[in-house]
Amino acid sequence: MPDHLPQDAGEKSLWGATAIANPVTHRLEESLQADVLIVGGGYTGLSSALHLAEQGVSVVLLEAKSIGFGGSGRNAGLVNAGVWQNPDHVNARLGEASGTRFNQALRDSPELVFELVRRFDISCDANRSATVNIAHSRSGMTYLEDRCQQLQALGAAVELIDGARTEAISASPVYCHGGILDPGAGTIHPLNYVRGLAKAALEQGARIFQESGIESLSRQDDRWLATTSGGRVSADQVIIATNAYADENSEQVRKSTLPVFIFQCATEPLPADVAAGIIPQRQGLWDTQTLMTSSRIDSSGRLVMSSAGNLRGLQGAIRQNWMRRTRDRLFPQAAGTAWEYQWSGQIGVTSSKILRVQLLAPGVFAPAGFNGRGIGPGTVIGKHLANTIVSGNRDDFPFPIEALYTEKWPRLRAGSINYATLALQFLNKRLK
Ligand SMILES: Cc1cc2nc3c(=O)[nH]c(=O)nc-3n(C[C@H](O)[C@H](O)[C@H](O)COP(=O)(O)OP(=O)(O)OC[C@H]3O[C@@H](n4cnc5c(N)ncnc54)[C@H](O)[C@@H]3O)c2cc1C
Repeated sequence: MPDHLPQDAGEKSLWGATAIANPVTHRLEESLQADVLIVGGGYTGLSSALHLAEQGVSVVLLEAKSIGFGGSGRNAGLVNAGVWQNPDHVNARLGEASGTRFNQALRDSPELVFELVRRFDISCDANRSATVNIAHSRSGMTYLEDRCQQLQALGAAVELIDGARTEAISASPVYCHGGILDPGAGTIHPLNYVRGLAKAALEQGARIFQESGIESLSRQDDRWLATTSGGRVSADQVIIATNAYADENSEQVRKSTLPVFIFQCATEPLPADVAAGIIPQRQGLWDTQTLMTSSRIDSSGRLVMSSAGNLRGLQGAIRQNWMRRTRDRLFPQAAGTAWEYQWSGQIGVTSSKILRVQLLAPGVFAPAGFNGRGIGPGTVIGKHLANTIVSGNRDDFPFPIEALYTEKWPRLRAGSINYATLALQFLNKRLK
């Protein structure tokens, strides 16, 4: 059974080390027919597969490595609503009517995630304990006040909270400026959630093959034909859900986003009294700093923190040290604890900072560019794509279906962002 842990060389992922079993599937070694072929076994691909299979559509999903090898097995596990950008930014780019449909479709995305967890009994430490976007300063709070107003105008049940409340929620002396609390959001074990989606999709009749990356996709006899090293699949429609992990065989999608790195560090399990004193109600937190930091406590009482950058070579030591100093400032209760796990992953960033559902050719959809928020959006888009394919009516699809967009110099620009974050993290050390 293939099990490529979602981590890069030299890394040690907390999620990989604590995951439920990867569903048993095989490499594709045959020729198959399907109504829909899905490429990529992350949230987007598996939500599509699950919702299609539930409606009786014949589905084959091909994953190049293992389920959750991409962002879906590596992320911070904060199940947030909406997208990073404010609703007004989305409206400005998509137009008022289209932007409002887009924002509303993602407003309740945590509801769908937690509903699937319940319905399919997915064992992923799901905790709908809220998430809080925390201001790191007065100016951060000014930004959040405006964001909160926009979210409330959209009908989101979010609440602006004051500094005393954010300090009590986080138990951090630094987080004393306030924030936005979303009571419908929460946290999950991200790899377990995606493995649970795969198990549910299999139970509904989807055929899933791991270690079966597509090597070509071409048009033959009015159908799409994908080949792997061992087999082939012919299908009427295709969903390419490879996002930031698109390999050279899904080159068009690969060039449609900037693959920007995020890294995470997790402590060893903290002593029970210390763990109970940090984020005591177990909300997921992320802040407004330029180098955004997210923090949460996992089910074993580990403090898990994330920020921008990769851990390759010497960068790993610089970033882990920076994260240690950040942790000790934010949560002095955990000072002196060792990092037990550290790992990284790529997010698909777009110039517009808004995800795109692209149509590469008639019947070939490629959602990409989640810009670091894909648990809810990937799950929601997968469901809507499935419904649209079943109904054949694109009018009900709440996202614009756009032509393929190619970013200029995506790898070079992602590399520049990576080194810019490294410089900030390194200078922070020097200036202290
Ligand atoms: C470190 C980190 C922290 C994050 N934190 C959060 C968070 O807290 N909350 C949140 O909402 N989002 C977060 N995100 C973003 C979120 O993880 C992603 O947006 C989401 O996982 C994207 O899911 P996906 O299914 O579209 O793509 P992926 O999960 O990346 O899946 C793509 C899959 O395609 C496969 N593939 C590639 N090429 C081929 C091929 N030729 N043939 C077959 N398969 C192929 C890959 O192996 C991969 O498994 C974070 C991301 C990272 C990296």
